[in-house]
Amino acid sequence: AGERLYLGMDFGTSGARKKDDSVDWGRSWKTTLFSLLEDVPVHLRPLVASISLDGTSATTLIIDSNTGELLARPYLYNESCLDALPVVKSIAPINHTVCSSSSTLCKLVSWWNNDNSDKKSTMLLHQADWLLWLLHGQLGVSDYNNALKVGYDPEVDSYPDWLLSQPYARLLPMIKAPGASIGHLKGDIRTQFGFSEDCVVCTGTTDSIAAFLAARATKPGEAVTSLGSTLAIKLLSTTRIEDARYGVYSHRLDDKWLVGGASNTSGAVLKEIFTDEQLEKLSEHINPMVASRLDYYPLKSVGERFPVADPNMEPRLHPRPKSDVEYLHGILESIARIEANAYILLKDLGATQVDEVFTAGGGSRNDKWTKIRERVLGLPVSRATQTEAAYGAALLALKGAQ
Ligand code: ADP
Repeated sequence: AGERLYLGMDFGTSGARKKDDSVDWGRSWKTTLFSLLEDVPVHLRPLVASISLDGTSATTLIIDSNTGELLARPYLYNESCLDALPVVKSIAPINHTVCSSSSTLCKLVSWWNNDNSDKKSTMLLHQADWLLWLLHGQLGVSDYNNALKVGYDPEVDSYPDWLLSQPYARLLPMIKAPGASIGHLKGDIRTQFGFSEDCVVCTGTTDSIAAFLAARATKPGEAVTSLGSTLAIKLLSTTRIEDARYGVYSHRLDDKWLVGGASNTSGAVLKEIFTDEQLEKLSEHINPMVASRLDYYPLKSVGERFPVADPNMEPRLHPRPKSDVEYLHGILESIARIEANAYILLKDLGATQVDEVFTAGGGSRNDKWTKIRERVLGLPVSRATQTEAAYGAALLALKGAQ
């Protein structure tokens, strides 16, 4: 049997995305999609068994349900539709994920209430759904990761009644698991690029979930800590956890739950104090086996949510010792304690206990920090081999090709 390859593409914030407000987003994403296909070496294209991709969560498209064309400018992932929030809060359960002004549902309601065009043949898709549609040609398919912020309930695997009773419910796409085969790659694309007749297109996911999948954490208790400009943790759990106070919520991954939370403590603070070069040099002199007695709470501005819900929490980075090595040690150890408390909180809220941590982001480069975290967390900590969301999307393609 010949070699089989699985193609994943990332349209997340760090992937195939350009920053410019005057851009025709639909056209730009489409151009990028086809230039990525173009980038697959010609001799490898016939070996591609399946394709999937991830997009930014809550990037929302209103399209013509006959032609697939965009009927409005896409609503970007971080766009706020405050006008729709009171309406959404009045129909959704209290503290539901959709009760945020940038949720997909707020975008849909805002469009529904403000757009005066004839809405007969319209449909809602997420960025990933629409790009995948360009490849498979069947309109109206999404996955339960992308659909979470429009209100889909992945636990009972349906849209809830409070949503289905709304007049715009008919715009909602049908939902499959991420990494489910949708259909074959469209014939014209297949022949144009030289992909195989058997090449299938699979449902995708959101960019942050794709990045988690890349780390190949697959068992309950395995987690990924991302030490980038923010500290985000994601833990595979057998139980679903939701707690709006801490901004903790769960995405479904087949028979498990991906529980996530994000702290405002951050590498962004490190970056304000030290250059990357200094971080490296100073770290060399840290003894990670010795506990630092310095207790900080590094924040860029006032307010923390997870693992401590306190909108008035003040950043704490004093006293600053004479030695920069000691100072950095104290900061790294303090962030490690926040990370440890984050995992303890998830367990207290009912999640599976963490037993191994993989690390992504700029902070994963720091081996001394990894050792400090192993001591503070009391767990094996290692750098994730793969952290690219595109790799996670390729794993979904692999799943869909089975
Ligand atoms: P982003 O979330 O912006 O994509 P990255 O994943 O690229 O961030 O990580 C950047 C962060 O990594 C910076 O804020 C910086 O403080 C941190 N960082 C870079 N090098 C080191 C290091 N050697 N030790 C600890 N942190 C580091």
